[in-house]
Amino acid sequence: MSIVKRIVVAGGAGFLGSHLCERLVEQEHDVICLDNFYTSQKTNVTHLLGKPNFELIRHDVVDPILLEVDEIYNLACPASPGHYQYNPIKTMKISILGSVNLLGMAKRCNAKIFQASTSEVYGDPEVHPQPESYKGSVNPIGIRACYDEGKRAAETLFFDYHRYNKTNIRVCRIFNTYGPRMHPFDGRVVSNFIRQALAGDDITIFGDGSQTRSFCYRDDLVEGFLRLMAAPDEVTGPVNLGNPGEYTIKELAELIIEIVGSKSKLSFQPLPPDDPTRRQPDIALARKQLDWEPHVALRDGLEKTIEWFKTIDVERYRPPTPNY
Ligand code: NAD
Ligand code: UDP
Repeated sequence: MSIVKRIVVAGGAGFLGSHLCERLVEQEHDVICLDNFYTSQKTNVTHLLGKPNFELIRHDVVDPILLEVDEIYNLACPASPGHYQYNPIKTMKISILGSVNLLGMAKRCNAKIFQASTSEVYGDPEVHPQPESYKGSVNPIGIRACYDEGKRAAETLFFDYHRYNKTNIRVCRIFNTYGPRMHPFDGRVVSNFIRQALAGDDITIFGDGSQTRSFCYRDDLVEGFLRLMAAPDEVTGPVNLGNPGEYTIKELAELIIEIVGSKSKLSFQPLPPDDPTRRQPDIALARKQLDWEPHVALRDGLEKTIEWFKTIDVERYRPPTPNY
């Protein structure tokens, strides 16, 4: 029988964190979900509350907390442009102070610590697809910088803790991920398009829709998290996790309209500043080091996500920002 680990998931009530908590609870670990519900709601984890190996603590990671743990996953951060631009100074504080506090916990407990970094560290990339060796093209004073530079600074902190304190770190760079439990008003492209298609509203395409993204289904991604955490200690990352299938935003809109069978029309809106023109992960390293690759095709993942959106009452989700 494998050892039961005490694992904290910061941001554990979010879209990705709640699924990660489910997987860890299933594996019979002792799971502590730490969340202040800044961009999520308790309903994402209420089904876990009765489990003897699950605990929920309402806490903001910008403040220190003392816990005794073996592993730490740091997912606590507003993740969609609308959410992270709502209070950009708080976003940067969360990335930096949250990382400092959780790295301190890792150092004190000699725990392994995982950072949910992002493809945004590559900015609007001049290299395509993006390998981990690409250093990125980020505008440090643009409206996305609070997130991009916050996540870049967090990566720096992780690697300095690793070099100076021998902290056992795992850093993954996540590319656009979608699936059930996305916040319906997070403003991300998949949640917006599905909500609009189901309501028969216009589909809001920013720009001409020729910009590309590569969409990974939630379950594939979280499997990558678990493999990275379980990998040998020399596998620190950064390692890209994402689905290399690349689509234009217009193609995504047309596919969602077709699956939903919606009468929605495309409505072209101004492109926000610094919106990356293309994005596709090079996942050779994840294939080699983690034996990981995504398996869920975009159409299949969208079908599951759309079915979930049909089951929720969007009126019960508070739009957390005015930017949706
Ligand atoms: P999410 O907003 O659903 O989850 C983030 C969670 O962190 C939420 O539950 C939120 O309430 C919590 N949180 C925010 N600030 C906090 C604070 N100060 N203290 C405690 N909890 C706090 O978003 P998600 O998509 O699940 O993202 C999870 C992580 O993965 C984030 O760090 C994000 O940057 C990263 N990521 C996600 C994607 C993606 O496509 N989903 C892509 C790249 C990186
Ligand atoms: N987008 C769009 N319509 C929307 C929301 C987003 O056309 O209603 C575009 C956005 O401009 C970007 C892409 O979809 O080019 C992905 O946006 P998202 O906010 O999901 O994530 P990003 O990868 O930009 O962080």
